[in-house]
Amino acid sequence: MSLIVQKYGGSSVADAESIKRVAKRIVQTRKAGNEVVVVVSAMGDTTDELMDLAHEVVPLPSGRELDMLLTAGERIAMALLAMSIKSLGVDARSYTGSQAGMITDAQHGSARIVDVTPGRVREALDEGAVAIVAGFQGFNRVTGDITTLGRGGSDTTAVALAAALKADVCEIYTDVDGIFTSDPRQVPSARKIDRITSEEMLELAAAGAKVLYIRAVEYARRHGVTLHVRSSFNNNEGTLVVNPVDGENSVEEPLIAGVAADLSQAKITVAGVPDIPGKAAQIFTIVASSNANIDMIVQNVSAAATGRTDISFTLPKTEGSATIAALEAQRESVGFEMLQYDDQIGKLSLVGAGMRTNAGVSAKLFTALFESGINIEMISTSEIRISVVTRADTINDAVRVVHSAFDLDGDTPAVVHGGTGR
Ligand code: ASP
Ligand code: MG
Repeated sequence: MSLIVQKYGGSSVADAESIKRVAKRIVQTRKAGNEVVVVVSAMGDTTDELMDLAHEVVPLPSGRELDMLLTAGERIAMALLAMSIKSLGVDARSYTGSQAGMITDAQHGSARIVDVTPGRVREALDEGAVAIVAGFQGFNRVTGDITTLGRGGSDTTAVALAAALKADVCEIYTDVDGIFTSDPRQVPSARKIDRITSEEMLELAAAGAKVLYIRAVEYARRHGVTLHVRSSFNNNEGTLVVNPVDGENSVEEPLIAGVAADLSQAKITVAGVPDIPGKAAQIFTIVASSNANIDMIVQNVSAAATGRTDISFTLPKTEGSATIAALEAQRESVGFEMLQYDDQIGKLSLVGAGMRTNAGVSAKLFTALFESGINIEMISTSEIRISVVTRADTINDAVRVVHSAFDLDGDTPAVVHGGTGR
């Protein structure tokens, strides 16, 4: 008997019909002799709608109350799903995050899991029932309050439960057939990947791939949970995200796993920075104080005549204005000349574990972009990733040409079954 954790995203339970369809699938898994724990997200775009509603009432809702509100979405979905499963003759019980033992810190809106005590879930399984757990929510022992893990947090709930219950696999059900070599919504020729390492998946998620939530992949990697990302609309095998032990699959690693695009970043250039020791430290201490998560950093060679240089970096657009304000406030003490803010950039990332042992990947990438007349503004690399910044309006073309240049195109167009990708 296997213990399977199944997570269904909002698009898989968008309406009553979908809930019944998912219930059937869960019943099949249970009847095949498995123990089944289900983690469910709020129906369709419920979370966004609740969020909009809160902001209609007040511009800045309190974090505690917002979490109280948003967690209602998962509560609706879990109860409906449990009813539907019971109507098919299989016992099912729904649990809120706190009932399921998802203990978090007290950070409303972006709580971190600190402990998982799924006693009641285990009990339900022992009594032959399917346990349905509300995704994305938890409970803080000190404040006694309900928390949420941040948008898309149901994946993390599922992985954390899978780790705590020592599940055989954590299945993440979504509206596409698995993880693709690029977003099938943008690149119809994208091909499904059968197997990818968690290391590659982390890089892709960090580079803007939206299919899996990065914290869930990190958690799965740390706890050795195998993920199976697959469609709830058919029975096809999806993509396995595996944690190979060192060296295990170094022989047949494919060169490239995928290409991701990210349009959520902006670029700040600090121009005319005195080229003396300590200036980068000063600038990035200010940036850090505004809590911005920065990504690429480029420093130019300084102009001999002025002894000044330009430093550019990328950061999430959402943190742009706060960071600009923080830097502007310190202009005199840093001694730079001016700031430029550019939010019309796109970032393309090419990811693959095989890059480690293959020269020439960057040459091929840059050539493909050059041949399509796409200008590169910034470049950064890690061991298994190359990222470039281009103009935002060329990013879709860039992804397509790079995808073809590395022979990633599939034979049949990728199918996107439903949902809005939100
Ligand atoms: N319903 C929450 C959201 O939309 C959590 C999730 O879907 O994972 O962010
Ligand atoms: Mg959702």
